[in-house]
Amino acid sequence: MNPIQMVDTVTQYRKIKAEIDSAVMQVIESGQYIGGNAVQTFRQDLEKFLNVPYVIPCANGTDALQVALMALGLKPGDEVITPAFTYFATAEVVALLNLTPVFVDVDPQTFNIDVNQVAAKITPRTKVILPVHLFGQPADMAPLLALAKEKGLFVVEDAAQAIGSDYIFPDGTIKKAGTLGDIGTTSFYPSKNLGAFGDGGALFTHNEDLANRITRICNHGVSKNRYLHEVIGVNSRLDGVQAVILSAKLRHLAEYNTARQAAADKYDQLFSGITGLITPYRAPYGKHVFHQYTLRLTAGREVRDAVKSGLDALKIPSMIYYPVPLHLQEAYAPYGYSAGDFPVSEQLSAEVISLPMHSELTSDQIEYIVQHFLAVYQPIYSS
Ligand SMILES: *Cc1c(COP(=O)(O)O)cnc(C)c1O
Repeated sequence: MNPIQMVDTVTQYRKIKAEIDSAVMQVIESGQYIGGNAVQTFRQDLEKFLNVPYVIPCANGTDALQVALMALGLKPGDEVITPAFTYFATAEVVALLNLTPVFVDVDPQTFNIDVNQVAAKITPRTKVILPVHLFGQPADMAPLLALAKEKGLFVVEDAAQAIGSDYIFPDGTIKKAGTLGDIGTTSFYPSKNLGAFGDGGALFTHNEDLANRITRICNHGVSKNRYLHEVIGVNSRLDGVQAVILSAKLRHLAEYNTARQAAADKYDQLFSGITGLITPYRAPYGKHVFHQYTLRLTAGREVRDAVKSGLDALKIPSMIYYPVPLHLQEAYAPYGYSAGDFPVSEQLSAEVISLPMHSELTSDQIEYIVQHFLAVYQPIYSS
């Protein structure tokens, strides 16, 4: 049995080593290290995969979110509605642009923004709803899109953890997560479902005007003439080497996501019927691509933390995504939230534990993880 890792990018690489190595060597020989043909090809490959007319590659997923918000022509103090339970970056870019993050609690089953609580947060200053497709499962977009349309709000989807996952509309129409709102963003951080060998990110849109603005902002506000700057932008671009690696891995992404789902099924089966332990929910409106496999231990923080320490001692990797919800992060203290504001997010931060999840996990490894997990968990739970 291979050593168990939270994410195993090296085993994944070895299986397509020939494909990747020759593509990387071609970029090195071409001299086109930033931008160039490789990036154009990857852009087209991803447009095709996502069935979206415009993909704009950039330097990382945080930049993608920042550029998305910059492209919408917002004013300081405009409000962006976003979940309290997500990775820090989602709301960080909002604050960085002098916009105001307005947090909403999440659904206890999906861990995604609770669509029923969004309407009550809308004020005359609200301009954007920014849902996150957390851990690989799409947020319930149909009601969010309807609400945004009714209120004239933009929708920006943070699909950093959900590339390749599908959203199923009530009428049966299926679209890729990240292609449903005005702009979708993603990250190619190595541990993401489509991971580069360094940093990378991208934005997606159906709107030509937004696509042009995004392209311009990613390149210092330049559109045609290289030294004429029309707006203030940023420097955010993808390397050719990362682009060819991403094109190669994109050809395998559906298969990688299927392997993650199979690993999740195996975990679910081995964990079924264990008291105090809730396995991931799969919403009927989405295809979950299991960026993370996250359990809830309903006994709470003390038990959860003791289980984590027990796993650490056995060298079985696990992670707490996320131990502190955004409204209780010190960095967001200026927005005036306090403990008790978002009970579900607070409860989840005390109960969640993520286990190893990647495309290379074997049945043996999953059995080993679960067996040792239960050996640690059950005595703690019953004491
Ligand atoms: C990873 C991630 C980001 C940021 O992506 P980077 O490429 O690391 O900048 C943003 N949002 C979510 C939900 C993420 O998981």
